[in-house]
Amino acid sequence: MDVLVIGSGAREHALVRALLHDPGVDRVVAAPGNAGIALDVSVEPVDATDPGAVAALAQRLGADLVVVGPEAPLVAGVADAVRAAGIAVFGPSGQAARLEGSKAFAKEVMAAAGVPTAMAHLCTTEDEVAAALDAFGAPHVVKDDGLAAGKGVVVTSDREAALAHARTCLEHGPVVVEEFLDGPEVSVFCLTDGTSVVALAPAQDFKRALDGDEGPNTGGMGAYSPLPWAPEGLADEVVERIAQPVVDEMARRGTPFSGVLYCGLALTSRGTRVIEFNARFGDPETQVVLARLATPLGAVLNACATGTLAEQPALRWREDAAVTVVLASPGYPEAPVTGGVLRGLAQADAIGGADVLHAGTATAPDGAAIVSAGGRVLSVVGVGPDLSAARAVAYEAVELIDLDGGRFRRDIALTAAQA
Ligand code: AMP
Repeated sequence: MDVLVIGSGAREHALVRALLHDPGVDRVVAAPGNAGIALDVSVEPVDATDPGAVAALAQRLGADLVVVGPEAPLVAGVADAVRAAGIAVFGPSGQAARLEGSKAFAKEVMAAAGVPTAMAHLCTTEDEVAAALDAFGAPHVVKDDGLAAGKGVVVTSDREAALAHARTCLEHGPVVVEEFLDGPEVSVFCLTDGTSVVALAPAQDFKRALDGDEGPNTGGMGAYSPLPWAPEGLADEVVERIAQPVVDEMARRGTPFSGVLYCGLALTSRGTRVIEFNARFGDPETQVVLARLATPLGAVLNACATGTLAEQPALRWREDAAVTVVLASPGYPEAPVTGGVLRGLAQADAIGGADVLHAGTATAPDGAAIVSAGGRVLSVVGVGPDLSAARAVAYEAVELIDLDGGRFRRDIALTAAQA
């Protein structure tokens, strides 16, 4: 099987490496990829959000399966174009990807499917926002209705700050105000072919920029799996009470959802609640979940793309734990400064149990160095027999990498490893 992976982040680098480990996969190509992915497989330039261009590339390469990583191409209809070209694709249609692309649509589907989530009001005026803030009380949760790469949400006890964020969102569309959910957050990725659903191992990510969950929200600064503190049977509960009902509801509407339904959950004092859905693998959780998956990935993704998931054997998992630490550019997330030279990458990658996965990296124009080219630069994964050992590997590796002004959190999985 020849597989084309669309995207250019550390999530796609993790997908590429997992696919390379699958004996059933003959060839992997990535588009557009990044400097690190290009060291592992061949890469092709493409505008990932141009459905026609991606479909044409897949045809030219003779790909048997296209795996779409990020949300923007899915919402743009890339999966539809590839499917229309007669090529199997892992990823939902543009219609189904609205589960991520519109928070209001996701809320409506959840209500129809009886899935537990935060109560919410969709507001189009400042007066409606003010009334909703008062109805729910503090802490306030205000969300941009459209795609915002995890950065369109403000959670604050400051009513003025909540209103100010709502005003900014209202300039381009509706805003969602919702009830605050207490309790720890968990990400559960549910693979589906539009009918059957299989959950991957739960993971937790760290969204805030700074240690101790301080600072602004980011795309994610680290993650770990397994979650020793999570209730046993959580993944089964998520399939039964959340993912399967949503997949059934989407099929009933004639817009079946296939690919990965990423369930962002809060384990509240009143039970498991959905915070949000995404229509693709999460970054950086994918890096740790795939590090633990023993089943060859290509066969599973192909089964989702071809409606044969029910025929797949149960997934197998390694006993190991995995931790990933994200190295970010100075100034991330507000104003990342890029173009810094990265040193020590090969030494870090050579550590046993470590994987250096590239996100925002590029090859310098003279070809002599790899430089930072985005807010999140690398995702350094450590695998070990338990979370402490996995942390030790991840931090040993990330410490070997030199980027002027580069920052990473030092407390990824710390509390869980100590428990
Ligand atoms: P979202 O983009 O909806 O995933 O929101 C980003 C982050 O904001 C989440 O991971 C949570 O940390 C926080 N958040 C979103 N909605 C809520 C809520 N209703 N209650 C508490 N925190 C929330």
